[in-house]
Amino acid sequence: MSAMKIWANRLDRGFERHRAEYEAAALRVLRSGWYILGNEVAAFERAFADYVGAKYCVGLASGLDALWIAFRILGVGAGDEVIVQSNAYIACVMGITMANATPVFVEPNEHFNLDVAKIEAAITPKTKAILAVHLYGQSSDMAEIMKIAKKHGLYVVEDCAQSHGARQDGVMTGNFGDIGCFSFYPSKNLGAFGDAGCVTVNSARLDGDFRTYRNYGSEKRYYNKVVGTNSRLDEMQAALLSARLSHMDEITAERKQICDRYLAEIRNPAIILPKIQAGCETVWHQFVVQVAERQPFINYLASKEIGTIIHYPIPPHLSEAYAYLGYKKGAFPIAEKFADTVLSLPLYNGMTDEELDYTIRTINEY
Ligand SMILES: *Cc1c(COP(=O)(O)O)cnc(C)c1O
Repeated sequence: MSAMKIWANRLDRGFERHRAEYEAAALRVLRSGWYILGNEVAAFERAFADYVGAKYCVGLASGLDALWIAFRILGVGAGDEVIVQSNAYIACVMGITMANATPVFVEPNEHFNLDVAKIEAAITPKTKAILAVHLYGQSSDMAEIMKIAKKHGLYVVEDCAQSHGARQDGVMTGNFGDIGCFSFYPSKNLGAFGDAGCVTVNSARLDGDFRTYRNYGSEKRYYNKVVGTNSRLDEMQAALLSARLSHMDEITAERKQICDRYLAEIRNPAIILPKIQAGCETVWHQFVVQVAERQPFINYLASKEIGTIIHYPIPPHLSEAYAYLGYKKGAFPIAEKFADTVLSLPLYNGMTDEELDYTIRTINEY
């Protein structure tokens, strides 16, 4: 069989599958004459809150905004520490530092999420919150995290940017902590066609605070209560997201089908497959394997026209952006090892059986 070009990710297939619905939604907004904070945003907020099982959802401009505004609204800022896993995406850490708080890194477990056994050792009198990032589609150990937070009087913010629809012990992520932060960046499982994000909360006060904060701190037009920001989900993205949300179960099921085949059919001792935590229904944002000699494997797949991505090659504490925190190589060896060995295999909605067959066979022939 001749080589087939497989992209690590592609978004055109997801668009094509429900093209008529997206085009109708876009036209509806264009023709409505109303483009910011209208019926489309309200309808999406209601539908997404219901999907997650939360009382409230507030649409925002991005996942990063959801994070830093969450800390701002909780009053977590300068002089305060927030615990986060050392292999998190850089945006998680920027969410903390944009609120002027200090990230305190805790090593991940074998599921790439916070190792709960190591959290308490990182708690100081300055600790105000735990940011639990549900990485690659799998929930963090929320029962244990909530127990520790309660014991020490800490807020819990969930970063659900990679976990739309993931459940732990039957409860969907975004429901455990004080605030659930979501991104709808186009490549996320629930992706918009541009930048978008939201928070889910169960407190009417927090819901109101986010609504005020996202719109220049005003509850009533031109009467500003606090110094807020401009972080509004727009009507176009909301309409497109409502269309996509109606297919979310299908989107998640398809990703699971693809990854179940990877799990069952990849047989290569050089490749360590991901493990699923007990009680977790992962939504497979990424299918992340570990390969000790990663670069030759990437080169081999590239020679067969199979694309891969590293999520992420540099842990936040070694990123140039965070040099000022003063960490050296070796500070978080587990995160550093993951950065050197993880690799995300091709995974996208609309991946064909032929593409999957070819990818699996090529991997097994390595
Ligand atoms: C994508 C992502 C973010 C940031 O979301 P944006 O919408 O790009 O701002 C934050 N955290 C995690 C874990 C993400 O994957």
